Amino acid sequence: MTSSHQPEGLGDGHRTWVEVDLEALAHNVRYLKARGGRAQLLAVVKANGYGHGAVGVSRALLAAGADRLGVIGVEEGEQLRRAGITAPVLVMGYTPLSQAEKVVELSLTPTVSSYQLGLALARAAARRGRTLPVHVKVDTGLNRFGLPPREAIALARALATLPGLRMEGLFSHFACADEEDQGYTQQQYRDFLAVAQQLPGVPIRHVANTAALLRLPETALDMVRPGIGLYGCYPAPQMAGCLPLRPALSLKSRVARLTALAPGQGVSYGLTWRASRPSLIALVMCGYGDGLPRALSNRGFVLIRGRRAPIVGRVCMDMCMVDVTDITDVAVGDEVVLIGRQGDEVISAEEVAALCGTISYEIFCGITARVPRLYLRGGYVVAQESLTEGPPQGIPLATHQERGA
Ligand SMILES: *Cc1c(COP(=O)(O)O)cnc(C)c1O
Repeated sequence: MTSSHQPEGLGDGHRTWVEVDLEALAHNVRYLKARGGRAQLLAVVKANGYGHGAVGVSRALLAAGADRLGVIGVEEGEQLRRAGITAPVLVMGYTPLSQAEKVVELSLTPTVSSYQLGLALARAAARRGRTLPVHVKVDTGLNRFGLPPREAIALARALATLPGLRMEGLFSHFACADEEDQGYTQQQYRDFLAVAQQLPGVPIRHVANTAALLRLPETALDMVRPGIGLYGCYPAPQMAGCLPLRPALSLKSRVARLTALAPGQGVSYGLTWRASRPSLIALVMCGYGDGLPRALSNRGFVLIRGRRAPIVGRVCMDMCMVDVTDITDVAVGDEVVLIGRQGDEVISAEEVAALCGTISYEIFCGITARVPRLYLRGGYVVAQESLTEGPPQGIPLATHQERGA
C-alpha cells in the first residue's frame, strides 16, 4: 500500500481505532489551568474519560498539571485506583450507603448527600484510623443533584463534627453556563457564595465547568472542574476559539472493499441511496456498534486521501459505505478518518454532533469499548487500551507526590 495519507502504520492490525493525542491533552490542561489562575484543576474523566479512555487520559492529564480527578460513580474511581492512580479522586455523583466501605478502602473523596451516608463513611474511616475528606454539593438552580442551600449548610456543619471526616469541599453546578445570557449563572454563583460564606472553614469551593471557566473565569474560586475543554471541544459554538484548545481524539478506519455500481443500483439496508451515475463505493469497517451514529446515514462525511466523501445509505452496526467516485486512486487499505484531521480537511466532533442533533459530549461517549484507544506522543503510539489488552501500560504515571502537590 502506498497511500500518501497512510499514517506510519499507526492503526495496523485494527479494523477501526481511536487515536488520542496526549500532547493535545497536555496543551489543553495548561491553557485551562492558566485560565483558572491560582485555582486547582480537577480533570473530569467520567464516562470513560468522555470516551477517550479514563486511565490513559487521567495519567496524561495528571502528568500535565491536573491536580485531581473527578468521576460520577464509585466504580469509575475504582477503575482509576486499580490502574495505580493515587491522585485525589472526587466522586461527584450519588453514592449508595452500601458503597461507604468501598469509598474508604479506595481512598476516594465522596460527595455526601445525607447525614446517614456521612455517618457510614465516618464509621468506616474511623475503623481504619483514617480521616476521609468529603464534599457537599449545593443545588443552586440546576435542580438535579445536591441539597438546597439551607440543608447543605446544616449537613456540612454536622459532617464537620464527625470524627473520621474532614469537610474539604463545597460545590455547585451551573445550569446555563454555555448560554449567551449569563444572568442565571451569575445568580447561581451569588447564591453559592452566600452558602460558602456560612461555612468559612471549608477550604475548597468549586463551581466552574468548562463553559464557566471560559466565559466567567472569576468563578474559578479554589478549584475548576473542566471536562469537555480538556478534550479540546467547546461547550457551545459561540465559545469556539476563545482559548486555542486542541481536539485530542480521532476516530479512524480503513477502506475494506471497493465496489463499482451501475446507475440505479442501491447501497446498504433498505437501499436508501441509489447511484445516479456509474459510482465507486468504498466499504468502511466502522458502524454504530463502534459509535458512528446511525443518524449520519446519507448525511455525514468521512475523509479519504485528504478529501471529503459522503456517507451513502444507512450506517450499519459494523460498517458504512461512502461514495468515492470523485476521489482518485482510492485503494483498499487507505486510512479513513471519521472524526479528526487528514491533510487539510477536518471533521470535528462538533460537526458530527450538529449533523446528529446532539453535542460533542454524546458523540465521544458513544464510542464503544470494542474500539481500541491508541495513545500518541510525537506521532508515535506510546500506549494502548483495548478489549483484549486492558488498560494502557505505557503512559508514565505521575503520582501526586512526584509532582510535589
Ligand atoms: C460533567 C461535569 C463537569 C464538566 O462539565 P464540562 O461541561 O464537560 O466542562 C463538571 N462538574 C460536574 C459536576 C459534572 O458532572
